[in-house]
Amino acid sequence: MHEKNLSIETDDNLNAYLVVQCSSCGHNHRKMFETLPPMLMVTCHCGSLLPISSEDIRKAARRVEALKRLIGKLEKLKTNTDKYFP
Ligand SMILES: [Zn+2]
Repeated sequence: MHEKNLSIETDDNLNAYLVVQCSSCGHNHRKMFETLPPMLMVTCHCGSLLPISSEDIRKAARRVEALKRLIGKLEKLKTNTDKYFP
């Protein structure tokens, strides 16, 4: 079984991406989180197969939720700061 390295990234519009790094060549495959199927197989251009299981996606979904809550708190903090320090 291939080792895979999963991480989560967000862009300026706060879209979340699942980033799958190939263990053979190090290439990063970015998949938009909102449009992910329940499980998927990423084929790297180097020929490696990077299977993403439903468990991987569930774990990632929990991290995305935590990230969104954190961003929500930061937005609130920013709003309050803007109010007191315009
Ligand atoms: Zn590769």
